[in-house]
Amino acid sequence: MSDRIHSTAAELAEALAAGSVTSVDLTQAHLDRIAAVDGDVHAYLHVDAEGALEQAVASDERRAAGTPLHALDGVPIAVKDVLATAGLPTTCGSKILEGWIPPYDATVVARLKAAGLPILGKTNMDEFAMGSSTEHSAYGPTRNPWDLDRIPGGSGGGSAAAVAAHMAPLALGTDTGGSIRQPGAVTGTVGVKPTYGGVSRYGLVALANSLDQVGPVTRTVLDSALLHELIGGHDPRDSTSIDQPLPGLVAAARQGAAGDLAGVRVGVITELAGDGWQPGVMARFEESLELLVKAGAEVVEVSCPHFVHALAAYYLILPAEASSNLAKFDAMRYGLRVMPQGIDSPSAEEVMRATREAGFGDEVKRRIVLGTYALSSGYYDAYYGQAQKVRTLIGRDFAAAFEQVDVLVSPTAPTTAFKLGEKLDDPIAMYLNDLATIPANLAGVPGVSVPSGLADEDALPAGFQVLAPALADERVYRVGAALETALTEKWGGPLLAQAPSLESTQNGALA
Ligand code: GLN
Repeated sequence: MSDRIHSTAAELAEALAAGSVTSVDLTQAHLDRIAAVDGDVHAYLHVDAEGALEQAVASDERRAAGTPLHALDGVPIAVKDVLATAGLPTTCGSKILEGWIPPYDATVVARLKAAGLPILGKTNMDEFAMGSSTEHSAYGPTRNPWDLDRIPGGSGGGSAAAVAAHMAPLALGTDTGGSIRQPGAVTGTVGVKPTYGGVSRYGLVALANSLDQVGPVTRTVLDSALLHELIGGHDPRDSTSIDQPLPGLVAAARQGAAGDLAGVRVGVITELAGDGWQPGVMARFEESLELLVKAGAEVVEVSCPHFVHALAAYYLILPAEASSNLAKFDAMRYGLRVMPQGIDSPSAEEVMRATREAGFGDEVKRRIVLGTYALSSGYYDAYYGQAQKVRTLIGRDFAAAFEQVDVLVSPTAPTTAFKLGEKLDDPIAMYLNDLATIPANLAGVPGVSVPSGLADEDALPAGFQVLAPALADERVYRVGAALETALTEKWGGPLLAQAPSLESTQNGALA
């Protein structure tokens, strides 16, 4: 084990099992790191030092008694603030939920607790998971640990930055259009969107129910597999949860790490490359492909012609679902209630209007308007109905492609991390970041983003995306781990070893 905060979760689990470290030590080391650098990064919205240490003490007692609950018992974790945590604030990055403390745990959180993982805190995110930069958080942006003037991706920039800056060995994210994979790409971390229905959504505050998935945010592919196996599997509380055993994800990651991809057919998606893609991102992508070929994979080009319409379809389907989900924030049931000025006895509707006006940010309002418009009678067929048809065609593109190849690949995002503020006033430019990740959500298929190296132009991380058919999540782990092994060998260590330590920026050096 290298040290407490730079080790992988798999290494920490081994050290805990060997008795060479305690969970209290590990948890405290991460809390110290948070205290040292999160003033600059702002990955966390809420840190639960007391609760995490209590859980760590209990974990150490179990280890001492020889009764650990799970291999990861005692390894601390961070949780995106869109997942309900009993007794801990859950804001979804929104003012409208300020002060809300859920009375129950999301199933994935309950599973973390049942396995003995201390929960360090809740991570920052774009409001209600709408965004690609975490700048839409009502609590201020998260900064990219590689360059504090740049975005960490979104919506789950907090989880990705926490893991990249060694403020947590593991984190949970959610991916509706790319919010696990794109932050992974721009922070040099690994992120997985599981097959739709593979991980419970119970207790995940819904953005768009038909697209949302919870998944792992880690520094290695093996760590993602370990966490995915822990949180995944059937949940009777989620009607879309798949009632069948997960494939062997850890076994697939280990198989891939051994470096043999003989017989694996890899399809490069023609539509997800070319003009408009940053040259340095494309160069790292091409290099990664060569490494897959070296490992024995066969690489071919595959066309998915309807992917060019994915973004447009997504930005009708998502706002439609989001606008009905957000209707529950009515000033009566949760969080904020704002009384309108100058009205003596306001009606419920007037209170609702004042609360939403004050409690929702601009991007949320924009999508509510878009969604209600797309669903309104008279426009429903022209917009929402058409978008659903495009969604079907995208699913068919995937089905046809997966008849020819085992996995599909592309760069995860078209560019490296952009500057804070650069795209904030241009929603379309912001939406374009998810060009390559959205098709997987529309079709429900699994995907991973693995760091592919630093782009020549700016020395910032780029990501390599691997997609597989629904229920074949093990393939993304096998191919992802093979690539990670080959690249780590080439770099002489993990990519994150090249990131700034952040120590020098301590105590708010940046205004
Ligand atoms: N950036 C995308 C959006 O704003 C994806 C969000 C997500 O995956 N939660 O919709």
